[in-house]
Amino acid sequence: MKTWDVVLIGGGVIGLSLALELSRGGADVAVIERGEPGREASHAAGGMIADLDPVLPPELRPLATFSARLYPEFVRLLQDESGHKIDFRRDGTIDLLEHAIAPEPGTGVRSLSTEEVRVLEPKLTVQGFPYFMPENAIDPRDLVTALVLALRRRSVEIVNGSPVQSVLTEEGRATGVQTARARYVAKSVVNCAGSWAPQIAPLELPTRPVKGHMVALAFPAGTPGADQPPVLRHVIRSRWCYILPRSTGRFVVGSTVEPAGYDKTVNTYRIQRLHHAATNVVAEFKEARILEAWTGLRPGTPDSLPILGPTSIDGYFACTGHYRDGILLAPGSARALAQVLQTGRSEIDIAPFSPSRFNL
Ligand SMILES: Cc1cc2nc3c(=O)[nH]c(=O)nc-3n(C[C@H](O)[C@H](O)[C@H](O)COP(=O)(O)OP(=O)(O)OC[C@H]3O[C@@H](n4cnc5c(N)ncnc54)[C@H](O)[C@@H]3O)c2cc1C
Repeated sequence: MKTWDVVLIGGGVIGLSLALELSRGGADVAVIERGEPGREASHAAGGMIADLDPVLPPELRPLATFSARLYPEFVRLLQDESGHKIDFRRDGTIDLLEHAIAPEPGTGVRSLSTEEVRVLEPKLTVQGFPYFMPENAIDPRDLVTALVLALRRRSVEIVNGSPVQSVLTEEGRATGVQTARARYVAKSVVNCAGSWAPQIAPLELPTRPVKGHMVALAFPAGTPGADQPPVLRHVIRSRWCYILPRSTGRFVVGSTVEPAGYDKTVNTYRIQRLHHAATNVVAEFKEARILEAWTGLRPGTPDSLPILGPTSIDGYFACTGHYRDGILLAPGSARALAQVLQTGRSEIDIAPFSPSRFNL
């Protein structure tokens, strides 16, 4: 029976990014996915790479900064390797904050006058305290498509439709994983199962699903918003909602934060509220058409920090619980955990995210 260097449980953006990083380092990797890769939270995400968002937990800032800095090169290499074009936008974010902040020197964050906002975004309803943040944004669906293509080109095994039931252990060491149909033998195993991480025996990694609704808007030809240039160029964050312009002409509006178990049904009222929220930011959205509405389950954790690093079982690692920031954190978490797997340590400190804080 074949022995893999690393078997990853779950093919979301986190598992796929880690698989790529490990494969680039020469490891023989398999990704075992319950359904289809990249169809859960990673498909639902807006795609803000919001490393400068003032609401990020302070403990997360070093990893967020590290990951955001990796992004341009990560995308460039991924496009080359996959042959898939990724919608990666570098126009920045206008954050309409509810109160003034003191921007950290060197971050490029700066407050904007009403006149400056009008120049940057003439259609925006100026409210609160506007700040410019030099953040990037990505279409997460492009990202996961490119990751799958790049992994296939590298002959990384991606097994679809195979829920992992448990991590196999022998004398306190992980030896592989068990699905209903097969057993995969490995030197190391990583749980990247997002909101479903606790369902994999024998350790109950404490992630829980946090539902979010999203809606995609676009302007039919002939409506005021369909004129060029587009009604928005920057990502907008406001107390009502956030809006991400895509290069396809879509505008993605999010999002709700709801504890709803594993229920992913779309609630029409919540979608209408999001559409209405977008009209508070740019009045033209009244004329926009709803192209798509969906939900996704963010992998939340008790302290809203990821669970990253070795567990109490030798050879069994966690890379999950990225909650609202898994797109932002994917390259950074993947780089850090790949280094831990390959050399025992990482260039960025991941101790604050250790599973040991939950006695696991
Ligand atoms: C509405 C919404 C908006 C968001 N917006 C942003 C944003 O703008 N920026 C940002 O940085 N983040 C955002 N996020 C958060 C981000 O989407 C997540 O943090 C990230 O996608 C988590 O990735 P993941 O790979 O851990 O989880 P997932 O993408 O959920 O992947 C987990 C995978 O594991 C598989 N799996 C589960 N159980 C098993 C099993 N037993 N065996 C095998 N496979 C299994 C699942 O099928 C799934 O494919 C948003 C999330 C939502 C829901």
